[in-house]
Amino acid sequence: MVKAEKACPVAFHPASTLDYLPVAQLRQVQLQRLGAIVRRSYDHVEMFRKRMDQHGLHPHDVRSLDDVARLPFTVKADLRDTYPFGLFASPMQEVVRLHASSGTTGKPIVVAYTKEDVGVWSSVMVRTFAACGLHEGDVIQNAYGYGLFTGGLGIHYGAEALGATVIPISGGNTDRQIMVMKDFGVTAICCTPSYFIHLMERARELGTDIKELPLRAGVFGAEPWTQAMRDRIEAESGIKAYDIYGLSEIIGPGVAIECQHQSGLHIFEDHFYPEIIDPETCKVLPDGSEGELVLTTLSKLAMPMIRYRTRDITAIVPEPCPCGRTIRRMKRISRRSDDMFIIRGVNIFPSQVEAALLSVEGTMPHYQIVLTREKGLDKMEVQVEVTSEVFSDKIRAMENLQAKLAKALDNTLGIRVEVSLVEPHAIQRSEGKAKRVIDNRKM
Ligand SMILES: [Zn+2]
Repeated sequence: MVKAEKACPVAFHPASTLDYLPVAQLRQVQLQRLGAIVRRSYDHVEMFRKRMDQHGLHPHDVRSLDDVARLPFTVKADLRDTYPFGLFASPMQEVVRLHASSGTTGKPIVVAYTKEDVGVWSSVMVRTFAACGLHEGDVIQNAYGYGLFTGGLGIHYGAEALGATVIPISGGNTDRQIMVMKDFGVTAICCTPSYFIHLMERARELGTDIKELPLRAGVFGAEPWTQAMRDRIEAESGIKAYDIYGLSEIIGPGVAIECQHQSGLHIFEDHFYPEIIDPETCKVLPDGSEGELVLTTLSKLAMPMIRYRTRDITAIVPEPCPCGRTIRRMKRISRRSDDMFIIRGVNIFPSQVEAALLSVEGTMPHYQIVLTREKGLDKMEVQVEVTSEVFSDKIRAMENLQAKLAKALDNTLGIRVEVSLVEPHAIQRSEGKAKRVIDNRKM
């Protein structure tokens, strides 16, 4: 079966109407909700009230959407400092769900939802799936982890509200995932892009050709990935790979999604108001400029977030999308300012390494960056898996490929790095977010 035969007409879902509101009406909805949420935060969240008072601001100072820029920022450390419930704006009796995201260090951050919040979450997830061309009758395999992580349940309730059939398989047990995908007639899968690559690989080993299955869409997120990675996934699986964006601090998955045109992610901005700022000066940048994404939740009751600094680097796309949605798009996020590491004075993002590696034929989309320090000098090694054909080939071919990769990396990064070719499966597979950088310099 080829890709074209898998495509089916996109049915319009009534929930998507909100994606197409006339712009003036959308701005009005945003402004009205902004006023209410600033008021609510001021009245119920001590940290926010203190900061507003320090700035000499009062909720009635918010009269236009431009006034958002006057409000104080919220950062991840604020969630840790107020652990566990310090930023809640609702009493616990009204909170129907808690989620938490594990931090790399110390205490997790805790997020809360009222019944209304859970409803909003489901509704943005319905709009998300609808934008990906999914509808009632689709069979959605949800391989995001269920539990405190927002990915599993966020996708789950959205898919149910859509009227699709959900398979709550959660992450892991790859062979069973493939069996289910095959036997249950799965038409869409949700997981991290790196896990899907692992699934494709394992399916091949088990003699299953994903192109032959009814699977036609993947909703991939929770980690940055590049266009080059998407091209690989689509070419090898015959599915359409959609980029989904979300974060627990804002709601979970369902903040933004690509439509059929796959050229930027539509932000559900009737609920999440986006700004792009210069991360150094904190000044708001005009649409089209690249900077850090800042989001304000416009309708979240239990835990409103005012101007939350996401650390994700993107830009608002100024042009309208051919799909006709009026909610604005942002460029795909391939890097987070948190992911950046500095080697010999040069700023490097893992996504730059990924794009350079995948531009060379014969490589697999599995790689790892290992940083070490020898005699006070930083060293960067890129380990990349190669196809078994290349690996079993003559030493000469290996050396050739190694040189090509080193050159591609040199051109992209502007510094010399060491490239090691490793055999298939040498790099550990992740069932959730892939670990791309191992920094041994601090030890
Ligand atoms: Zn669109």
